[in-house]
Amino acid sequence: MSEANLFKITQNQLDEAAEKLNLDKATHELLRWPQREFTFTLPVKIDDGTTKIFHGFRIQYNSALGPTKGGVRWHPEETIDTVRALAAWMTWKCALVNIPLGGGKGGIICNPQKMSEREKECLARAYIRAIASHIGVHKDVPAPDVYTTPQIMAWMMDEYEAIVGESHPGMITGKPLSLGGSEGRGDATARGGVFTVREACKTLGVNSKGTFAIQGFGNAGQFAALLHPEILEGGKLIAVSDSKGGIYKESGINPRDIVDYKLKTGSVANFPGTSPISNKEIIELDVDVFYPAALENVITEKNAQNVKARIICELANGPTTPEADAILYAKGIHIIPDFLANAGGVTVSYFEQVQNTYNYYWTLEDVHKQLDDKMTTAYHSVYKMHKEKNVHMRLAAYMIAVSRVAEAVKLRGWVS
Ligand code: GLU
Repeated sequence: MSEANLFKITQNQLDEAAEKLNLDKATHELLRWPQREFTFTLPVKIDDGTTKIFHGFRIQYNSALGPTKGGVRWHPEETIDTVRALAAWMTWKCALVNIPLGGGKGGIICNPQKMSEREKECLARAYIRAIASHIGVHKDVPAPDVYTTPQIMAWMMDEYEAIVGESHPGMITGKPLSLGGSEGRGDATARGGVFTVREACKTLGVNSKGTFAIQGFGNAGQFAALLHPEILEGGKLIAVSDSKGGIYKESGINPRDIVDYKLKTGSVANFPGTSPISNKEIIELDVDVFYPAALENVITEKNAQNVKARIICELANGPTTPEADAILYAKGIHIIPDFLANAGGVTVSYFEQVQNTYNYYWTLEDVHKQLDDKMTTAYHSVYKMHKEKNVHMRLAAYMIAVSRVAEAVKLRGWVS
């Protein structure tokens, strides 16, 4: 999936933060590794009548702050190390937005674009059968991620409830509304990211009505296109890309039209009235705000020097390599790091769990307001650390998150 080993990268990032924080050796070592790991074989009868064995993972990285929390990715190139890395990032993400949850992540090696609905349902149920005794509202709570949807969450919840014989809507988040999902969960990742961009524009004096571009046009990318102009009260979308191609238009692309086109055709490619742009070119466009919203390791030492955006809001997990980070920092480009930028998803997942527990549901306005508070507070705490300690935004975010998790670890004490 990535050129560099993503898990090694997260360990190196942690090492840097640990050094800055003067973290004691034992806590540092503990936080370098997942607390608990599961690997599964998942036999599923596929439509041609044969049985296929899928491979899946669930990593519970750290539960010092609360039950582990994080999505399940379905991706053909999933590896245990990408899941480990993403589970580590979930730990830092939850700590950074100050929600009482630890970090976890799951993955299944599969290609959902080539699977029927029946096959997907069987795979979702097989996964829950494999992990049922190790997840739950007080243990580990899955959610959607790359290529997993509210429908898949619904199947997973149903399977879990069938196994335990009780209602447990809070065992998974990102559910459809009618099954205990939260208002505002669908666009939460993008909305949270755009809130941080709004704060960054204000703080840095960047034109909030300027240009923006988006790489990756799945859930986060599509909602960022729609919400950026709404929340920033302006802004011109000039380029969008997805795995099948990209489009560019200097005078601006109508966000609603391109989202509708994508939903209809499956890609943004060849949208009428635009010129093609490659995934490589979009990264180097001269824009006020660039949203990498696809997969990891797209901004590398090979292209970082050519990046011209004023602000990069990392809606994807891990889009910038450490080498590229250093180059962008030296160029003065403001990065809103992934585990801050995309924390809106898990934040509203947390709200969903709170509502499930109370069995009392909030209005959309309540969700937006609470999300805005969480994201705005987190952004400014990272910005303050970045300024005070003269470190780049990612390291600042790590320092805050790691110190919170470390404090919880130490308060719990050690077995002696
Ligand atoms: N998959 C999302 C993330 O990476 C959301 C996780 C969740 O809601 O638990 O943050």
